[in-house]
Amino acid sequence: MRRWVDCRAVPRRTCRTAPACRIPLFFSVGEHIVCFPGVEHEHGERVTNDMEKSAGPAPKVSVVVPMYNEVGNAAALYAELVEVLDAAGVSYELIFVDDGSTDGTLEALKAACAGDEGAQIVELRRNYGKSAALNAGFDIARGEAVVTLDGDRQNDPHDIPALLKKLDEGQGYDVVSGWRTKRQENLMRRFPSHVANGLISRITGVHLHDYGCCLKAYRREVLRDIKLYGEMHRFIPALVRWVGGRVTELPVNDRPRTAGKTKFGRLGRTAEVILDLMTVKFMMHYLTKPIYFFGRIGLLLLFMAFTVLGIVIVQKLCYGADMTGNPLLYLSVTFVILGVLVVLMGLMMELLTRTYHESQGRKMYAIRAIHRGRRGQSDER
Ligand code: UDP
Ligand code: MG
Repeated sequence: MRRWVDCRAVPRRTCRTAPACRIPLFFSVGEHIVCFPGVEHEHGERVTNDMEKSAGPAPKVSVVVPMYNEVGNAAALYAELVEVLDAAGVSYELIFVDDGSTDGTLEALKAACAGDEGAQIVELRRNYGKSAALNAGFDIARGEAVVTLDGDRQNDPHDIPALLKKLDEGQGYDVVSGWRTKRQENLMRRFPSHVANGLISRITGVHLHDYGCCLKAYRREVLRDIKLYGEMHRFIPALVRWVGGRVTELPVNDRPRTAGKTKFGRLGRTAEVILDLMTVKFMMHYLTKPIYFFGRIGLLLLFMAFTVLGIVIVQKLCYGADMTGNPLLYLSVTFVILGVLVVLMGLMMELLTRTYHESQGRKMYAIRAIHRGRRGQSDER
């Protein structure tokens, strides 16, 4: 039974942010008191999903798999994941996200997962796309680490233990991204993906060989602040670096598709990649200071306007040139109008970014840990 409770009454053990929060947005399912995913607490800390506090210990790993019309892969993928993760000896949960499939994928998943308490199937109401499907999985994931992989069995679950090991290596990475060193696709698909990887690496400054590989391991806390709009799943490593995360890559296996069809056309993704790339670049560099971007363009346009106007005046004064029919005069006027508009747009964007940050209690910075001097303790965030 679902019952709403005022979170002021929720004991601390169920939610570490609850005592300070006055938003009655917790509900109980049977014995479990559950935070509502995505809710901002009054003091600005966002609760993603704290079910682990009440629904038994959180697993070490959450495996999130987006599935769209993968009926032929569902059962085999489930069996393979269970085999590998059981052998690895880690506690885990499986989260399959059915992204509005119409071919019976949901039924196949239900049949495969029947009786497995560690498996969940998130059924989306319609086909939202891979990014949204991943986001839906991230929202309910409880593991310390989150592993994502494609539901078409092209990614090899046997790589998961190595990805998890790498995540804990050295100082600890926040993302370990798979790198398919031996791609099973033909040249027509490898070439655009090669160009896209180069372009994304160059523009975001996060150099990875294979942005398109879905097989990745994340520390869950870095995913908390990442929302995947459009087809942004490719850029998660760059977005993680943007919030200060440590990113690395690891060679992984790639296998040919044995069932179902690819959902993406050969060149169909090019326009989306370029547009998403522009958004990521803008967000990474100018989200807190958009006027620096628009203002620079505006000032350049105004400078050009006055330079052209100067030429027109010299033409008039020194050579008696006609002002009315002079195209340079119109050019100058156009530059002035554009320059003023772009600067105004920058000022409006400044207002928007303030609303964006302050309405959601978002910070301009991300804290990794707070190191306390006295007892020599650190709080990992
Ligand atoms: N996918 C999804 N929603 C979509 C399109 C794809 O969840 O709208 C899933 C799909 O089921 C697969 C993964 O995303 O598990 C990658 O899709 P696909 O294999 O078609 O991409 P490719 O490997 O060809 O790049
Ligand atoms: Mg595939």
